[in-house]
Amino acid sequence: MTENTHNPATLAAQALGWIDDGTRAISPSIHASSTFLRDVDNGYRSGREYIRSDNPAFDQPEALLAALEQGKDAALFASGMAAATAVFLALGRGEHAIAPTVMYWGLRRWLREWNPEITFVDMGDLDAVRGAIRPTTKLIWAETPSNPTWAITDLAAVAEMAHASGARLAVDSTCATPVLTQPLSLGADIVMHSATKYLNGHSDLVAGALATKAEDAFWERILAVRSQHGAVLGSFEAWLLLRGMRTLFVRVRQACANAMTLAERLRTNAHVAEVLYPGLKDHPGHAIAARQMKGGFGGMLSIRVNGGEQAAIGTAARVALWKRATSLGGVESLIEHRASIEGEGSPCPPDLLRLSVGIEDVEDLAAELEAALKN
Ligand code: PLP
Repeated sequence: MTENTHNPATLAAQALGWIDDGTRAISPSIHASSTFLRDVDNGYRSGREYIRSDNPAFDQPEALLAALEQGKDAALFASGMAAATAVFLALGRGEHAIAPTVMYWGLRRWLREWNPEITFVDMGDLDAVRGAIRPTTKLIWAETPSNPTWAITDLAAVAEMAHASGARLAVDSTCATPVLTQPLSLGADIVMHSATKYLNGHSDLVAGALATKAEDAFWERILAVRSQHGAVLGSFEAWLLLRGMRTLFVRVRQACANAMTLAERLRTNAHVAEVLYPGLKDHPGHAIAARQMKGGFGGMLSIRVNGGEQAAIGTAARVALWKRATSLGGVESLIEHRASIEGEGSPCPPDLLRLSVGIEDVEDLAAELEAALKN
């Protein structure tokens, strides 16, 4: 989509270096118009007709995301859920899909309630993935690292398997971010982000995004779902998102460094039974993560607290700097007793606390958590 050949961090910092033609402004203005003037001969030479199918406020953030993901095109959505569900809704009637047992719980619930043609498998077990493929399988959905145990999927291997059977691979890369992993270059066909998280980074909007390797018929159907379902982002949110994306690389790099330090410290903490973080050498997905994640293992980790569910909830109750809140990927650190959120049927252990590590001074984060774990 872009001819800009600078490094990804440079592309992000300058939002591709676009300058407004009319004003020479470095930051784009916010387009608010919901409709566009038709030409006197009844055409739409501007290419724009109505905001639900096309919003000029999307041009720059979509072009930037396509460049960062090395894709042909990208599309913004009203939320991560709107982006993810658009991929499944673009499947034809009777087409089967495979999804991981450990994945963002909201999407898992929607798939269970709305899509009968879906099989859940352990995506780390390639034989299980192969065994779930049917002649009608047209989509494999992966999430890596996957929420909230941070299991790792070998994207190149699953992409090969998908393509051998005529299916596509779509990847929820929200927690890997384009800083650390480019699923399209590993063989995936579609990459999805809850842009609410790292892409925006400031816990002040809800947004979603997809990027695609090919502008094919499946991508056209996805864009039609966005327009027909009206799952579109507002102009102000698109503007805020672009502002957030400009600092993506510094935020993610700092969060990764903080998460690694915390993981190393917490693994020797007497009150912690287990640290789940792909950056640790004894994590079952470490070798694959080291290959497909460049420059860090992400800002997300979970700990299993000695003493079970009540000890975990008690630990979260004793912090103040860490905010007890859902969501992730913001500059501020969040802590969450995840099983309480996910409810019945969740594969999340009851003693698990999910940590979204922010960009604060890691000594402050470690000191407070270690004190809270003590009693
Ligand atoms: N994917 C992941 C990994 C998430 O963590 C979330 C939200 O928490 C979503 C998708 C859904 O995104 P949104 O809340 O923007 O709809």
